[in-house]
Amino acid sequence: MRAYRMLAPGVARLVEVPVPDPGPGQVRLDVLAAGLCHSDLHVVDGGAAAAWRLPFTLGHEVCGTVAELGAGVTTCAVGDQVVVHAPWGCDACLRCAAGMSNYCDRRASLPAAGIGLGTDGGMAEALVVDATRLVPAPGIDAATAAVLTDAALTSFHALSGVRDLLGTDTTVVVIGVGGLGHVAVQLVHGLAAGTRVIAVDTRDEALELARRLGVDAVARPGPDTHGAVTRITGGRGADVVLDFVGADATIELGASVLRPAGELVLVGSGGGRLVVTKPGALPAGARVRLPFWGSRPELLQVIELTRNGLLQVETTTMPLADAATAFDLLRDARVVGRLVLAR
Ligand code: NAD
Ligand code: ZN
Ligand code: ZN
Repeated sequence: MRAYRMLAPGVARLVEVPVPDPGPGQVRLDVLAAGLCHSDLHVVDGGAAAAWRLPFTLGHEVCGTVAELGAGVTTCAVGDQVVVHAPWGCDACLRCAAGMSNYCDRRASLPAAGIGLGTDGGMAEALVVDATRLVPAPGIDAATAAVLTDAALTSFHALSGVRDLLGTDTTVVVIGVGGLGHVAVQLVHGLAAGTRVIAVDTRDEALELARRLGVDAVARPGPDTHGAVTRITGGRGADVVLDFVGADATIELGASVLRPAGELVLVGSGGGRLVVTKPGALPAGARVRLPFWGSRPELLQVIELTRNGLLQVETTTMPLADAATAFDLLRDARVVGRLVLAR
């Protein structure tokens, strides 16, 4: 079968590999869809894979159909449409037992960060995974279902920590309206009614998508953002900033528009720095959080929200054969919403 694999530092390619067999407790999925995340670029181009053993197949946002059951698997049946809860865990600590492998106590010493992040993922015709990682997703468009497992799950988890700060007469600034950010905008609207949203991006087409999603204002990073925050909040500042870029410039921008006792949520892995002790860098009482991915129970909630029509993921699909082109499009910032490799 074909698989888009990380072969060496900086080198990913579509190659031919044997179809994997499921071991005890595992299943083989026929992959229907695998999303491209900006984190995949950090892995391929940015050295995020340095600690992992190569080669492995990329793709951590996966939807598939159960094709073969390994010994002892009774929790799903051949033909089921499922998605994969992909954050890697030790499967032994209390966090893992609660479905929170994203915060596994042994995370720092694990050989991979997730399915498709240090171990074989879904940018292939088939994937073998532990049955315990599967979550049913029947009847949802496969490309959308794939994206729910990271872009939507991560945004949902990022927001879940700031629900106490949101609601009528509050304001969220979303920096980076890409795969994650465009979902976050919808989740704010759906879960925190009355909250105003200001979308910030460097690209017209991303701001256009934000406008279509009904945000209260769009802005470019810099003075334009300061102006929008002043206007929309009456000078108070934003209650929450969701930074889906995480570069020096966006972290500084986010911190500078935050209201006292607001929260700066750093989701993006742009490698930026925040000096929390510099006078004036953050307002009094500010909270800073570094959410990572999301739990299995949260994934179930995201799937339910999608079934209820609260979330419409903007997807563009391309065949697995065009994986290299798809990566180039993401690299060149020419993707609106999420790009998905799909059958
Ligand atoms: P994406 O490429 O789809 O979207 C990024 C968006 O940010 C684009 O619209 C781009 O135009 C915009 N942007 C880039 N630089 C900007 C700047 N300086 N100011 C304003 N906007 C800017 O990326 P994505 O897949 O949504 O991922 C976003 C980030 O989140 C990545 O760094 C990714 O690695 C990270 N991520 C983190 C987690 C986590 O668990 N913490 C999970 C998934 C992804
Ligand atoms: Zn991701
Ligand atoms: Zn664990």
